[in-house]
Amino acid sequence: MNKNLSTEKLLDEFINRCRAKGLKITPQRIAIYKEVVTSEEHPSAEIIYRKIKPLYPNISFDTVNRTLLSFTEMGLIEIVEFTGISRRYDPNTEKHHHFVCRQCGNIIDFYCNKFDSLDIPEEIKEKAMIKKIRVILEGICNNCKKDLEH
Ligand SMILES: [Zn+2]
Ligand SMILES: [Zn+2]
Repeated sequence: MNKNLSTEKLLDEFINRCRAKGLKITPQRIAIYKEVVTSEEHPSAEIIYRKIKPLYPNISFDTVNRTLLSFTEMGLIEIVEFTGISRRYDPNTEKHHHFVCRQCGNIIDFYCNKFDSLDIPEEIKEKAMIKKIRVILEGICNNCKKDLEH
């Protein structure tokens, strides 16, 4: 979740951006956006689809998938880097870092000024223009740790 903004504010912002980009604001799109933005789990399109389907039985997985991709193009959400088979979406477009649980795939946001301002190694600076720093910590989350102890 975005730590500074309320869901209401995010929805306002969403509607404004859709208008600016000429994307039609439909109840389905609002529902999909709301679902992503209030999710704490960096959901995949499959997860969003499962939550939206009971509300809009006619919606197809493809529509959900395409909607999420167009939100990404608009900069409303982001795609989380290399997390397995399905794309995972992140409603938090602020500077932040990730912990990824190798057991259950849970992705937890965290903030760290020190990581934000890491020195970029020369080696990669020569080869590419760096636009964003994201640190990914991997391990076992507390939930999974509990299970392992049993
Ligand atoms: Zn876990
Ligand atoms: Zn995140």
